[in-house]
Amino acid sequence: MSYLHNVKSNLVLTLDQGTTSSRALLIRGDGAAEASAQYEFTQYFPKQGWVEHDPNEIWSTIKHAINDVLTGIDVSRVKAIGITNQRETTVMWNRKTGEAIGRAIVWQDRRTASMCEQLKLQGLGEHVYKTTGLLIDAYFSATKMQWLMQHHPEAQILAKRDELCLGTIDSWLIAKLTGSELHVTDVSNASRTMLYDIHRMQWDQVMLDACQIPESALPAVKPSMGFFGEAQINGLNIPISGVAGDQQAALFGQRCFSRGMVKNTYGTGCFMLMNTGQEAPVSSHGLLSTIAWSDGEKVTYALEGSVFIAGAAVQWLRDAMQLIDNAAESEYFALKAEEKEYVYVVPAFAGLGAPYWDMYARGAVFGLTRDTGKEEIIRATLESLAYQTRDVLDAMVQDAGTSIHSLLVDGGASANDFLMQFQSDIIQRMVVRPKNIEATALGVSWMAGIGAGLWTMKDIGALHINHQNFKPKMEQGLADKRYAGWQKAVKRTMHWVDDEP
Ligand code: ADP
Repeated sequence: MSYLHNVKSNLVLTLDQGTTSSRALLIRGDGAAEASAQYEFTQYFPKQGWVEHDPNEIWSTIKHAINDVLTGIDVSRVKAIGITNQRETTVMWNRKTGEAIGRAIVWQDRRTASMCEQLKLQGLGEHVYKTTGLLIDAYFSATKMQWLMQHHPEAQILAKRDELCLGTIDSWLIAKLTGSELHVTDVSNASRTMLYDIHRMQWDQVMLDACQIPESALPAVKPSMGFFGEAQINGLNIPISGVAGDQQAALFGQRCFSRGMVKNTYGTGCFMLMNTGQEAPVSSHGLLSTIAWSDGEKVTYALEGSVFIAGAAVQWLRDAMQLIDNAAESEYFALKAEEKEYVYVVPAFAGLGAPYWDMYARGAVFGLTRDTGKEEIIRATLESLAYQTRDVLDAMVQDAGTSIHSLLVDGGASANDFLMQFQSDIIQRMVVRPKNIEATALGVSWMAGIGAGLWTMKDIGALHINHQNFKPKMEQGLADKRYAGWQKAVKRTMHWVDDEP
């Protein structure tokens, strides 16, 4: 069968399990989605700094979404399943019964911050960076797994009997899709646990010991593209053949297949990833090294910089400040703002991520005058997404030692034309936005198709995809001046509070 035939007739059932919603899509090889369904689920905030999800609700929302998209479809066209997921979020379950033990601890959860301080005091910082590519932080799965084991007495008993499973959301969904047959993950998800040696491609004994996690409770680690197992859906056995963490999937969905290509996803936070080829990068600017994907033959690495608050700052304008009714309206007001009013909003609501890594920074507004109105505040908030992106991009360019000519963008807030133009102005580079800004789901559907032998990376690379380009219109001198103002503002928000909440 020819590739062209495959592209249009075969479908990948793509599961996109995000932080606030679970989605299922039926995606063709050319990227067109024939169906999609989405369900939100409950966010639990039991204490200050704690965030939990119910693993059963995650599974039931995914199941509903799958049922919705398969209704009325000839299921025999579905040739593969791809899974992409919120990264780092940790689930614990009973291998025999397949039942979750307690709630999932979400990536945003800070309850294990003091456990991370302990690991730092043990002098493990350098080891963690050298082996896992990460910085010791509560964000990653290791201390969440440790916490779950410590707070559920049955975990120890099950672990002794080899009946305990720990894993990220992809592992949990695969277990559920295969009737608890499998306990597996892919290399991109494993590389976010702070337990996985990204060079030797194995669990790291030093970190397992430090966090008291038995290796038998961890999933087998597989390439992101290839056969994971078969899911039983509507009487058919469909291979799960593509699995990747959401940001890595987006890098793939933007077709950043060659070394040096960069994408930035503007969602709740911003995540910038650069493909660094077969070499694990080393950062001297607070960026992380991570596994982008593996096709079973070679491993591709990435440099990653994250901004905690991006689209969330727009939500703040809507919900806390009540300056706009919806996110899209921010563009309308920003365009009405007074040209010469240089206001800066630093949305360091939860501290600052790369390249600053300051948990003690807090948000601020600078440069107010009598003329400052809501339009200027809204514009400055949107601009903060672009400034933070430049912070990370500059760090990346310095680490990688390469020049970057353009930035590929995706995610919800990339729909904002004002923001994309300002982004191009402030980085003085072309910003390239594909017509389909859902790069995450697209990326893993392509991976699953490759894993199932429906098409190749070369086929995907050759597809014609429509883009919209934003070229710099602002003069370099003014862009640098505006950016210098931002850097001054950021400095003044740093080390603002004494304790992390
Ligand atoms: P996530 O996957 O993190 O939930 P999405 O990619 O769905 O995020 O993007 C949603 C985020 O983008 C929200 O924080 C929202 O405030 C922001 N957003 C959506 N549309 C716009 C817009 N037109 N302008 C600015 N921000 C937007």
